Amino acid sequence: MGKSYSIVAAIAAMIFACVSTARSAPIAINVTYSNGTATEKQIFGQAVSDWTGTLANPTGKTVALALAVDFQALAIGNGGSTTGFNVDADKLPTSSSITMSNNTDMYYSLDPAVPATKKDALTVARHEICHALGFGMPFDLYSAQADTAAVPPTWTKGTVTATLAGTSLNDASHLDATAHPNDIVNLTVGLGNRRSISNIDVKILTAAFGYNLVPEPASLSLLAAALMLGFGRLRPVAA
Ligand SMILES: [Zn+2]
Repeated sequence: MGKSYSIVAAIAAMIFACVSTARSAPIAINVTYSNGTATEKQIFGQAVSDWTGTLANPTGKTVALALAVDFQALAIGNGGSTTGFNVDADKLPTSSSITMSNNTDMYYSLDPAVPATKKDALTVARHEICHALGFGMPFDLYSAQADTAAVPPTWTKGTVTATLAGTSLNDASHLDATAHPNDIVNLTVGLGNRRSISNIDVKILTAAFGYNLVPEPASLSLLAAALMLGFGRLRPVAA
């Protein structure tokens, strides 16, 4: 009995070892705020959680992104901007500055019912953090982070293809709104709608920079269930 149990334990340990090797820790995003109200910070913090709940560190590397976030009444229609990018030797992002507008056209709430006349701050925050993680400026998606055969404004890396909004620096930092409607990294996120991080946003970032994905809780539960099933089946045999 002892021997059988130890074999089961060894197999389980091997499975856990494989899984933990393949699985990277989530990226870290550390925010320093200026001028924000509690609600404004809460909304931005939600966007941070959405990204750290999606992307894990590139294999063998660590991303700890420092964001300096300010809230200012930008011009009506301008939801925010990201500037001052810094990267490490692997061209992975280390820090940048984000300005979020808190002008009267902005909507700061977790309630998804965005008024038709307002721009959703949570969507804007997701958009700006996507830039800070490497989508667009200053990483030059056409050369260093894309296949050399990519023909602008089509962006290609391996099996991932996307249509950028154009070839100017700003257009090339956004997805084309016709090819990728309602994406968070369109040139404008529009009024009266809330957008989630999309598959194509994630695919581009992972293909360009090597980010891994944070495993979904469901797949972990499945693994745990499979292991328990294994134990349950082997135990009577062992006994
Ligand atoms: Zn943008």
